[in-house]
Amino acid sequence: MSATCVCGSDLWDYRGINPVSQPTPIGHEYVGIAEEVGSEVTTIKPGQFVIGSFFASDNTCEICQAGYQTNCIHREYVGANGAQAQHLRVPLADGTLVATPELPDSDLVPSLLAASDVLGTGWFGAVAANVQPGNTVAVVGAARSACSPSSSSAPRPGRRGIQGDGRTACHQGAATALTDGLTRHG
Ligand SMILES: [Zn+2]
Repeated sequence: MSATCVCGSDLWDYRGINPVSQPTPIGHEYVGIAEEVGSEVTTIKPGQFVIGSFFASDNTCEICQAGYQTNCIHREYVGANGAQAQHLRVPLADGTLVATPELPDSDLVPSLLAASDVLGTGWFGAVAANVQPGNTVAVVGAARSACSPSSSSAPRPGRRGIQGDGRTACHQGAATALTDGLTRHG
């Protein structure tokens, strides 16, 4: 592994929100160098820098082709293997990993790591919500993933994101931000 993240959903386990009854690997946001590939892998080569998805998918089934790879009929949760480790076995590598054209400079690695989960999740949400230029959007559940629609849309003129955390204490903030946004943007 070259770099991994601590995701908000990793902290659910850490804080006891998700019961953990036995030693359990953790971590599902990751980038690294492919050291070995299985005999059926065709597109990923050893030595490539790869960005991995948090759900392994074949990227070929009907659901994947419809753009919903996290619900692939063959999906496997990569976090079950624990990306916060020196090495990680990634199932369905052809569908799950994206190789960069060349080895990135080290200062780019954190940005590429963001593409492992938060960018894709945020982008999926923005597409699913049919966010258009000029829209004001309310994001409820502003973990880093949820922040991505507004952060990924930030360079686009006319878009504005309002984020709110999914926790109770922050619903108020989201509601306030939404009200404020509607007041100012109609
Ligand atoms: Zn699939």
